Amino acid sequence: MPEPVPFLDLAAQQKRLGPALRERLDRVLAHCRFVMGPEVTELEDRLARYGGARHAVGVSSGTDALLAVLMGEEIGPGMAVFLPAFTYTATAEVVLLLGAVPVFVDVDPQTFQISLSSLAQRLADVRQVGQLIPKAIIGVDLFGQPAPWDELNDFALNEGLTLIADCAQSFGASYKGRKLGHEAKATTLSFFPSKPLGGYGDGGAILTDDDEKAALYRSLRSHGEGRQRYEVQRIGLNARLDSLQAAVLLSKMDVFEEELKRREAVACAYDAGLPSLIRPPVRVLDSQSAWAVYCVTLPSRTLRDSLRDCLSEADIATAIYYPKPLHHQPAYQAQHDGVALPVAEALGEQVLALPIHPDLSDEAVGRVLAVTGQWAERQDEP
Ligand SMILES: *Cc1c(COP(=O)(O)O)cnc(C)c1O
Repeated sequence: MPEPVPFLDLAAQQKRLGPALRERLDRVLAHCRFVMGPEVTELEDRLARYGGARHAVGVSSGTDALLAVLMGEEIGPGMAVFLPAFTYTATAEVVLLLGAVPVFVDVDPQTFQISLSSLAQRLADVRQVGQLIPKAIIGVDLFGQPAPWDELNDFALNEGLTLIADCAQSFGASYKGRKLGHEAKATTLSFFPSKPLGGYGDGGAILTDDDEKAALYRSLRSHGEGRQRYEVQRIGLNARLDSLQAAVLLSKMDVFEEELKRREAVACAYDAGLPSLIRPPVRVLDSQSAWAVYCVTLPSRTLRDSLRDCLSEADIATAIYYPKPLHHQPAYQAQHDGVALPVAEALGEQVLALPIHPDLSDEAVGRVLAVTGQWAERQDEP
C-alpha cells in the first residue's frame, strides 16, 4: 500500500524547522513573559515589514482581528457590512456579534472572489429598503488569491464605505507586484495552524498604516487599556497574542518564502497534470497566490462526490470549502433578505480542495495526479 497523502503535515514541517524552533521556545520558557513578551514585538516588526504596513498588532486569532477592526470603525446596530457569501463563517460572525447586519454578496464564477457587480446590486438593495446604513465592505482573499483590491478601493471610495481586508488565507500572496498587507485601511491575518503562516494554536494580527488606529487596536486587544495600566479607556477584548505562539511564528517566518515557493510548485504540477474533466483554479491576473487551498471544480455534484470517494479510497485526503454558502447557513437565515446568490450556491456542490502544503512530496503529487487521471478515464467509458 502506498503512503497516505495527508491534507496537511505539521509533523513533517516541525522536523524541517529543526532545533531553531526549540531554541526559540526555550527562550520563552526561560524568560517566562508568556503574554505579550519580546517575541510578540519582534514578530509584529517582522509582519509589518513583510506586509509593507507601518504597524502590525498581534492578536489572539483572525476572528478577534476582524472584531477589533470592526470595533475600531464603531460598527454596530443599524449598519450593513458587505461581504462575500462564499467564505468562512468568521468573516460574517463578527458583524453579527457587534449587532450589525452582514449583507451577503455573490462571487465571481471564475476566480470565486467577491463580484463587483453583485456588490453594486447588494448596495442598491440595502439603499432601496432604507433600513440599514451601509458602512463597510470586508474583502476576502479566498483560498490565498487576492480579491480585486483596486476595484474594491474605487468602489468603497465612491460609495463612502470603509474597506477592510480579511487576509486570513492570503498572507504571503502578492497583488500587482506587492505583498498583500496594505490594500485596505486595515488588514487582518490568521495564524490558525492550517493557514499558510500557521502557529501551533490560535493567533492573528492586524496590519495598518494608521498610527491612531494601531494604538486603538493595541488598547482594544487588552481590555481597552489606556495609557496607564489599569486605566480603562474603553470596552475592549482579551485578544492578546502569546509569546510561545509568536516564537513559533518567528521560526516559521524564516522558512515562509521557501514554503510559498513549494506551494506554487505543487500548484503548477497540478495545473499541468490534472485531467480535463477537473478544472484547476483560475489564477487572478497579475498576482501570486499563497495557495492556502488548491480548489478544483467539477461539472456536477455527482462527479465531485465520486472523485472525492475515489481519492479517499486511495488514502488521499481532500476537503470541501465550503459546502454551503453563508446565506444558507442556519445562523444567518434570519439576517438574509432572501436574495439568490447563484454562483455561491452552485460552488458548494462543485468544489474540491486537493492537498497542498510545503511538505507534500513530488511522489505524493504524482499519486494524486495518477488517481485523478484513472478516475477521469473511467468517466469517459460508456
Ligand atoms: C480562518 C479564517 C478566519 C478566522 O481566523 P481564526 O484565526 O481561525 O479566527 C477569518 N476569515 C477567513 C477567510 C478565514 O479563512
